[in-house]
Amino acid sequence: MSDFIKFLGTAGARVVVAKQLRASGGIWISMDDTNLLIDPGPGSLVRCWASRPKLDPTTLDAIILSHKHLDHSADINVMMEAMTVGGRHPKGVVLVPKDAVSGNDPVIYKYVRSYVSKIEKMKEKGTYQIGNLKIMTPIRHVHGVETYGLIIKGKKHRIAYITDTKYFKGLEKKYKCDVLIIGVLFPTPLHYDHLSVEEAKKVIKEIKAKTTILTHFGYRMIKAKPWVIAEELSRELKQKVIAARDGMRFSLP
Ligand SMILES: [Zn+2]
Repeated sequence: MSDFIKFLGTAGARVVVAKQLRASGGIWISMDDTNLLIDPGPGSLVRCWASRPKLDPTTLDAIILSHKHLDHSADINVMMEAMTVGGRHPKGVVLVPKDAVSGNDPVIYKYVRSYVSKIEKMKEKGTYQIGNLKIMTPIRHVHGVETYGLIIKGKKHRIAYITDTKYFKGLEKKYKCDVLIIGVLFPTPLHYDHLSVEEAKKVIKEIKAKTTILTHFGYRMIKAKPWVIAEELSRELKQKVIAARDGMRFSLP
């Protein structure tokens, strides 16, 4: 099968997730014969098997958490079990911020940790090899818990994933890429740990990816119709900007 990004969910934040106004299964990337699952929120396992064609968790090479908030991490344990068939076939890397496995409120159960080949803790400016892909965590984000965005570098593509963060100066400098996935929670700035359209616009404009995909929508963003916002951004910036839909498969050319 050709390389692709599949959106198992596009929900952002509590209300949209709790009411499942959008699904919250995270993002599956298949590239250069390597399969990654990023941010398996509530329902990730169900969304994998409900996909058409189905996505089989035993084919995963890694599960990656950008941070431990529930909308990104709720299915991490069940996906670790699914990847390894209940621990019977240990495999795979789990790449997570330190606070997902240590401190007084880790999100990964101790008994599940032995199921996988390796649990790797992210750090700022980190580089990690997973299958044929290089994963980078260029900078720690400004968010409630330890949070990192990702660059996923393959033979032909460089994908950036800008997850939850309050806007900070220089954010856009860290994520040069040809495909940009960016979480846009609000239509207007609320200055509360997440990007709004206005702030995302600055970032998108500077990065100039060939394709930018908006995702992780909050309630007000959904009311404002993300596909309309994406069209407006495309026109204004003269760049290709699209809004992710639940189940959307983006083929990597
Ligand atoms: Zn968050």
